[in-house]
Amino acid sequence: MRIVVTGGAGFIGSHLCDRLLAEGHSVIAMDNLITGTADNIVHLVGRDDFLFIKHDVTNYIYIDGPVDAVLHFASPASPIDYMQLPIQTLKVGALGTHKALGLARAKGARFLLASTSEVYGDPLVHPQPETYWGNVNPIGPRGVYDEAKRFAEAMTMAYHRVHGVETRIARIFNTYGPRMRLDDGRVIPNFIGQALRGEPLTVYGDGSQTRSFCYVDDLVEGIVRLLHSDEVEPVNLGNPQEMSILELAHLINQMTGNEAGVIFKPLPKDDPRVRRPDISKARRVLDWEPKISLEEGLERTIEYFRAKVG
Ligand code: UDP
Repeated sequence: MRIVVTGGAGFIGSHLCDRLLAEGHSVIAMDNLITGTADNIVHLVGRDDFLFIKHDVTNYIYIDGPVDAVLHFASPASPIDYMQLPIQTLKVGALGTHKALGLARAKGARFLLASTSEVYGDPLVHPQPETYWGNVNPIGPRGVYDEAKRFAEAMTMAYHRVHGVETRIARIFNTYGPRMRLDDGRVIPNFIGQALRGEPLTVYGDGSQTRSFCYVDDLVEGIVRLLHSDEVEPVNLGNPQEMSILELAHLINQMTGNEAGVIFKPLPKDDPRVRRPDISKARRVLDWEPKISLEEGLERTIEYFRAKVG
């Protein structure tokens, strides 16, 4: 297949490019590099089966020749990034999704949207099944991401219903691994960076809020299975192993031998209290579940960041 990955120089996008190339597909990665980085794909440049196009997908996307699939992964994705880039985030979720769907339609390609657990907002149902409609503050600081992705899901379903595009929607829960930016503000790079520098870990609030962390290789496996499946409606992809942020801090301090402990900082506005995917649907329709334990995934991620912290 010839596959377009928008956000191909991002954290998840670049791992997806690696995986698709390893399976023998040819890949066109598109990215405007506002939060992605060429470092993530530099090892692919020069291959015959790989092409990088620096492009902002909120503008018309032109691709020469056939395309079999469009995987739309372009978007700022960490709270710090999307709060600093609120308009770009809304535009890529809305206009970018429209353009990527337009490309898929024009080429007769399958389309897969990278959606998010943020469509559930600060959830009142726990764990979150795909049938839950969510609890989102549209005008809060996180609304720019949450509503952009909710709009993106609506647009994807509309292209499916009106134009018959073969569409797939992955609701991606917290994912981590190598190629996250050390300064992207998300909890795992923040904590590992702080731990490797011997600083106390910045726990927001009292640290009792929960998240469930999925290693990127497991996530990519789920994405590939979803792409090849027949499931049109959204599918949660994430690791159901839930923990509090304080527990995560202690684990990272222990794994890195950091003795500086933790310090508490104010909880950001609208920070979800709990989050954990119900993955029964992914188990059923994709025969998928995460395989990599948090300890193993963190080992690999710490290794990656060690080289960056220096
Ligand atoms: N968090 C924290 N310290 C940090 C960064 C994040 O305690 O240095 C918390 C944050 O408030 C949230 C959780 O960790 O409760 C996960 O935050 P992240 O930004 O990784 O992603 P989110 O799941 O909120 O989108």
